[in-house]
Amino acid sequence: MAKVESTFDNTPLDPSKDKGDSPSLMQGQIAYLYKNKTLGIWSNIILAIILMAFFWLHFPKQHLLLLIWLGLIITLSLVRYFVGKSFKPERQYTQLELTSWANRHVFFTSLLSTIWGLSGLVFFPNDLPHMALLILILFSVLLASIPTLAASRIAYYFQILVTLAPTTILLFMSRESGHQLLALAVIVMALTLVFVSGYIYHLLFELQNAQIALQALADTDQLTGIANRRHFDRKFKVEWRRAMREQTPISLVLVDVDFFKKYNDTYGHQAGDRCLQQIAMALDSISHRPADLASRYGGEEFAVLLPVTSQENAAMLAERLRKKVESLKIEHSSSKLGIVTISVGVSCCQPVWDFTGNTPDEEQKVTFPAMLLTAADNALYVAKEAGRNQVSEQGCGDQKIANVLQKQAEENLPIG
Ligand code: GH3
Ligand code: MG
Ligand code: MG
Repeated sequence: MAKVESTFDNTPLDPSKDKGDSPSLMQGQIAYLYKNKTLGIWSNIILAIILMAFFWLHFPKQHLLLLIWLGLIITLSLVRYFVGKSFKPERQYTQLELTSWANRHVFFTSLLSTIWGLSGLVFFPNDLPHMALLILILFSVLLASIPTLAASRIAYYFQILVTLAPTTILLFMSRESGHQLLALAVIVMALTLVFVSGYIYHLLFELQNAQIALQALADTDQLTGIANRRHFDRKFKVEWRRAMREQTPISLVLVDVDFFKKYNDTYGHQAGDRCLQQIAMALDSISHRPADLASRYGGEEFAVLLPVTSQENAAMLAERLRKKVESLKIEHSSSKLGIVTISVGVSCCQPVWDFTGNTPDEEQKVTFPAMLLTAADNALYVAKEAGRNQVSEQGCGDQKIANVLQKQAEENLPIG
């Protein structure tokens, strides 16, 4: 049996550096939204100051109102910025949390747009140059809030409406033909913005979808259709950190097909491939919980990662899997039972991270991801040695293993 090769070093992983699992469409979009928060704050403040500078002389009796208006724009921009600062793009959020983050952004941006829109009502200049400046600035504000499209297209259309409608209505109501022509131009430009933003929205959506499809492809084993080693490695790190943070056990089931070389020799490589596909399906069908991950670990070896699962439960699941493969009754004349069987190694770990480095008994506290892999591999080896077609277990908190790994870490030796 090939020794399991560990891609993990023997340093305990820092639970605060959770990189998340695969990206969801919404996660990507909200992350994009909050990445652009600096653009939002500066564009709003600078544009509001420019507008105020021009209107300061134009409306000598409304200085207090202008200052209140500027204060509102600055305050709201800052609030939106600081709310967005606590969003962590690398963290994995639930769908509900992401919706709430999107709503928060939409709420503050819509409020800001309303205040911008009100500027046209409160400070309506009668001369064309000031009016043109106001319209230019309102369109610039709308361009700067294009990232809102990532949260909601409807919200962006609403922003176009509330920002431009008051000024446009007043322009139409004034009887001057120059003003009415300007109002028409605003409507045409607003419709162009609606059209272009719709296009950008679709582009953003397609790009994000393509990224997810590519990620899924890169994470899938082409022969069996289940997760591949790359996916397993990433998920293992994420779940290990989660187990450390939440102080929960994490189990690993390693599976190796018995006498598979002989199977290939007897029935051919293509039959061997089909056999692996059947075993992968069996593996996938017994891991039910969303956090469970069945993967193809290597040639004819599979791994099932079982977060928040005790060793006892993992062993029960492993036994169910062994029986399931046995019940497939795939003919294997060179095997002892005449059918394809598997050997299974099970181990369970309670990951511990020593945050302070001052724990009284440091050796007992610190655990490594490689310990779980090593223990499962040892158990698999025992199952093979004991005659195959069986499940064997080994706990990974074994002090002896910890000592060996600690020593290897000190000497910088590879483990696994
Ligand atoms: P043991 O019971 O000790 O596990 O014996 P074994 O013959 O299964 O072990 P060994 O590691 O010697 O052989 C594994 C075989 O799996 C060798 C290789 O030809 C076969 N194999 C690995 N990947 C694939 C694959 O993708 N398709 C097919 N058909 N065979 C594969
Ligand atoms: Mg093998
Ligand atoms: Mg084998």
